[in-house]
Amino acid sequence: MQNLSNISVIKEILNRHGFTFSKSLGQNFLINPGICPKIAELGGARPGGGVIEVGTGIGVLTQELAKRADKVVAVEIDSRLLPVLDETLAEFDNVKIVNQDILKVDLKLLIAEEFGNMPVTVCANLPYYITSPILMRLLEERLPIESVTAMVQKEAGVRICAEPGTREVGAVSLAVRYFSDPKILFNVSRGSFLPAPNVDSCVVRLDVRGETPRGVADEKFFFQLVRAAFSQRRKTLVNPVSSALGISKDGVRQALLDSRIKPTARAEELKLYEFIELSNYLFALKRGAE
Ligand code: SAM
Repeated sequence: MQNLSNISVIKEILNRHGFTFSKSLGQNFLINPGICPKIAELGGARPGGGVIEVGTGIGVLTQELAKRADKVVAVEIDSRLLPVLDETLAEFDNVKIVNQDILKVDLKLLIAEEFGNMPVTVCANLPYYITSPILMRLLEERLPIESVTAMVQKEAGVRICAEPGTREVGAVSLAVRYFSDPKILFNVSRGSFLPAPNVDSCVVRLDVRGETPRGVADEKFFFQLVRAAFSQRRKTLVNPVSSALGISKDGVRQALLDSRIKPTARAEELKLYEFIELSNYLFALKRGAE
């Protein structure tokens, strides 16, 4: 097996294939040999299980996943990497590369066709320019997956895993927590990548919940409220919620009162259950007015 954490080996392979890094595709490949085995282990790659990888690069994480899991399906958008992967993954017969955009693949179908009844996890060193869209897609579609273990930009990781009611919390934290139990596993310095990005990173794991929180009257409306509330996070909720959802300010004030939330509250102060309660009152109000 080629040592894909060795810079000379990587450069030799990439030069031979005439490959140049694409910044716009978020191509920062892992070169720290300690990281990929850790992602694979903590991400649940194991005998009897399947793994979906997002973005293979030259296959450094793919190798570690393929060593441990029964099957790996890796989705990579950059067709220039296909001949490289043919070489670096030649010895594995349990890897399938899907040359597509992860935001466009039919993942439900892919899981059903490729993994059958196997437990499936997702592992990735994500392209940072689409971190949130990828995570939200994996969660919102309610795919039959156990967990998502992903390298993300450090600040994004803090936000993704932030507890509701804390300063770091944002719309994405609430959405992630609605579908999963998130945690930061470990930090990774910028020197662990080639080329080195100008930000540090961390690996997060989102353990997907079998059931989403109960009692949400309308999920779409709930997420609209969360986005509206955080659109002006330093302001109190009344104005942004009223203008984004088309409900009078008095209506929003009343819904806050009914939900036992103080009228001066800001989005970052609310717990998940409070957002749920507020969204139900607002939804009833909106339906009543229609
Ligand atoms: N896993 C490799 C590693 O750790 O060295 C590569 C990680 S690199 C940060 C991100 C990878 O995602 C790149 O190979 C890039 O081409 C790929 N990528 C970017 N956008 C993508 C998309 N929309 N769908 C699938 N893959 C994508």
